[in-house]
Amino acid sequence: MNKKSPGFIRFFIYGVVLLMVIADVFYIPYLHRKLNNIKILDVESGSPVVLSPFSLKKETILLTSDFVDHFSKYKSPFNDGLTFNELIKKYIRNRWADHYGCMRGTREKKRIHEGIDLYVPENTPVYPLNDFGIVTEVNDNPHYMVKAKYTQPDGTVDSIKIEYGKTVRILYPEGIESVYTHLNDVFVTLGQEVNGNTEVGITGLTGNIRNSGKPSHLHMELRDAANSSFDPRNRLRFDQGSVSYFLKHLKIVNK
Ligand SMILES: [Zn+2]
Repeated sequence: MNKKSPGFIRFFIYGVVLLMVIADVFYIPYLHRKLNNIKILDVESGSPVVLSPFSLKKETILLTSDFVDHFSKYKSPFNDGLTFNELIKKYIRNRWADHYGCMRGTREKKRIHEGIDLYVPENTPVYPLNDFGIVTEVNDNPHYMVKAKYTQPDGTVDSIKIEYGKTVRILYPEGIESVYTHLNDVFVTLGQEVNGNTEVGITGLTGNIRNSGKPSHLHMELRDAANSSFDPRNRLRFDQGSVSYFLKHLKIVNK
């Protein structure tokens, strides 16, 4: 063993300690200032609050306003550049039967139509409504059944199985899901990440459409995080909002 080794090790340790002190004195305050530049818009008791990274109590993923603005806008499922209003004008056949909320079922088993029917030619490719999505359900069984609620004449609610046929469900960053049914074919897999140009399937005649006497169409539903359907007209007709615009007007103090 070289006698000089212990001296060298001591010198090395002093060096490391010195670097740690420099880090403490200069670099950590620098990082602190950097982190303090981050403002976090959060909710407390239903009101907006601004937090700093140091006052966050739980692991948090931050989304920029650009992210929210970009991914809360929707487009046509046929990727044809049509706005949602144009889509309805062009592809809805009967406004008393094809829209969300129209009556379905029988007098004994009343239920509502939980989507909208868009009459495009059979085998029309369908795409996500958004530039990003995750496939949360795929079924390529042409007789695939889905549970739905119906109301009996005495007002009690029960569930019934409806034949949806080949189905694709896609989740968008806003937490909304679209469901496409009666497809002739599906081209995606469960969990797959898709974009606005991903062909997820083609329209068709599977499911209960075969017994209804109706021509091929896309049955499209929108569902929230609780899996409740809602009228696409209430959400998709509105696409001009901007979180950045809101933030420009916001005047609340740091917490
Ligand atoms: Zn339908």
